[in-house]
Amino acid sequence: MIGLISKNWTIRWRLTIWNAVVLAVIGVAFSAMMLAMVHRHLIARADSALVDEIRELIEEINFYPDTVDLGQQLAKRYYVHFDYHFQVLAEDGRPLFRSRFLTYIQLPVPATPGELRGQVLQDLALPNLGPHRLLTMAMRDSKSRPMLLQVLRSRVALDQEFQSYIWMVLTLGPLAVVAAVGAGYVLARKALAPIEKIAATAERISAETLSERVDVPNPYDELGRLSATLNRTFDRLQRSLDEMRQFTADAAHELRSPLAVMRTEAEVALRSARSVEEYRHVIEINLEETTRLAAVVDQLLTLSRHDAGTEIDLHDEVPLDALLADVADKFRTVAQEKWLTFEVAPLPSWNVEGDDIRLSQLFFNLLDNAIKYTPRGGHVAIKAEANGKLARFIIEDTGIGIPAEHLPHLFKRFYRVDHSRNRAFGGTGLGLAICKSIVESHHGQIEVNSQPNLGTRFTVTFPGKP
Ligand code: ADP
Repeated sequence: MIGLISKNWTIRWRLTIWNAVVLAVIGVAFSAMMLAMVHRHLIARADSALVDEIRELIEEINFYPDTVDLGQQLAKRYYVHFDYHFQVLAEDGRPLFRSRFLTYIQLPVPATPGELRGQVLQDLALPNLGPHRLLTMAMRDSKSRPMLLQVLRSRVALDQEFQSYIWMVLTLGPLAVVAAVGAGYVLARKALAPIEKIAATAERISAETLSERVDVPNPYDELGRLSATLNRTFDRLQRSLDEMRQFTADAAHELRSPLAVMRTEAEVALRSARSVEEYRHVIEINLEETTRLAAVVDQLLTLSRHDAGTEIDLHDEVPLDALLADVADKFRTVAQEKWLTFEVAPLPSWNVEGDDIRLSQLFFNLLDNAIKYTPRGGHVAIKAEANGKLARFIIEDTGIGIPAEHLPHLFKRFYRVDHSRNRAFGGTGLGLAICKSIVESHHGQIEVNSQPNLGTRFTVTFPGKP
């Protein structure tokens, strides 16, 4: 059956057919049980009528103690009977009385009637007369002689009645199955209609209409949850599409400025003959812009590799404390040149599964920013603390700080607090985005706290072990 209900069918048809099959199986089992019970009831009713008849006969027999007289008396009442036919036999098998119907019919008789106890009911098939039901019973007359009583009745009426029940089931059953298929189809269509609506809306939503949403009439039922899930997926899609568009626009803009500078410089230089110094100046500017371009392209490449998940290899055990101390060493001279005090507090030993090159890059970017955005005479500090499961690495400075309204956007790609000033510092606005991507790919978290003119603190938390 399962094989018959093809996978290509719509759910509506599959539900309808399953519904009809289940109902048909239940219907067949129920009808079979009901017919069996009806049959039992009909037989019991017929048998109890036979018993009533034999009781009447016994009363009659008890009334006539003489067997000769008995035959005559019984003949008066029982010789011709429309439904029931009687036979009374003496112990030796000699008939004391026999209904007219039984004149030429031999009923089966127990070999020793004297030993018969209680009532014996049996079915008989009489040639040309059809099925019959026979009740045989032994009794003793007033002189204590055993006698055998038999009552016979045709089963034709009973069988016909039973057959009429069978016909009723056979005609109503298929009608019920047809009705079940119809009702099942209508119900399935009604139940599935909202799904078709959801599918139609979802299909209509494309990159251009991504702001459209599926209706959620009832958020608590299954379809409501399905619609809500789809809508959340569309939200995410829309957000990432928006981010992607923004990112592409920012990247194009970022690459356009150095290219424009280089082009203008070259055009101006070529307009007339120039001195060697002037050509040198143009080449220097071009070199500077090319370096900036290369830096942006490198960082973009890093980010896109992070996005694709191809860059980071998390299989090495990296001692973060030693790694941070190494990176910090590289900044000591720069800090000194800027008259900054540079403090590295004792770092607790902490190992993470990760990529040492990327983790170095993370701390490099954070320390580079701290030194870049802290004016002369400031202070840059590195601290760390660890509990059993997490370690927190803090890089703080007493630099220019970041106004609160910029903090939520700080880790976005190309986001700079002050565009013109940061370009002067040589920043691309990608450093913190790269930091975030590195931290997240190591299952960590990065946070920033800052106050303008007081300083900034970046806190990076990593799971790992001492
Ligand atoms: P950039 O390459 O421009 O430094 P980042 O992504 O590293 O880009 O930083 C984004 C912006 O966050 C920077 O432009 C700068 O304004 C701000 N910023 C980052 N670190 C600090 C810091 N330690 N102190 C003050 N401002 C910071």
